[in-house]
Amino acid sequence: MKIICIGRNYAAHIEELQNEKPTDPVIFIKPDSSVLPKEQDFYIPEFSNEIHYEVEVLVKIKKVGKHIDEKFAPTYYDEISLGIDFTARDVQQELKEKGLPWEKAKGFDGAAVIGHWVPKTNFEDVNNLNFSLSKNTELVQNSNTSLMLWKIDALIAYVSTFFTLKKGDILFTGTPAGVGRVKTNDYLSGSLEHIEMFHLNIK
Ligand code: ZN
Repeated sequence: MKIICIGRNYAAHIEELQNEKPTDPVIFIKPDSSVLPKEQDFYIPEFSNEIHYEVEVLVKIKKVGKHIDEKFAPTYYDEISLGIDFTARDVQQELKEKGLPWEKAKGFDGAAVIGHWVPKTNFEDVNNLNFSLSKNTELVQNSNTSLMLWKIDALIAYVSTFFTLKKGDILFTGTPAGVGRVKTNDYLSGSLEHIEMFHLNIK
């Protein structure tokens, strides 16, 4: 199983990190070892002083596909979830400045939080889903999938021109504005259409 992540897919998040708006989706991969086991706490790794949460809508691929046409993309997934793309922002900043790959900042153990899966048929339109992240009692990220620069089907089509998608692969579709730091004893919870999809403690 691989995790394919999209960077810079919401305009307001691009602005907050002062990144350039990409002409194509930014793609990176997290290894399967980055998945935080269910119901486990997230431990801040010692190599970073600045771990950021990034809440993202997730899509689970249900069959193998390559060079998928955008109009057939909906037949490649039935389930949606919500997760966190944990990012060691200090490490990423250093790698970015040197033009190096981001894996150390994005692919470490526990860096992929995956909520429970729900059928996409639960929703009227996957391109109009409200989702949010709360940290302790504060709402820190709150957005809607309609604000994606590239929508889910376009992402599946684009990603599949580079990588064969396989059953069980997970697509992280990018984070909206509001990313920020976690510290020990924080409590995070993520909701999709006002239903809690995951919660976790930071240690
Ligand atoms: Zn992300």
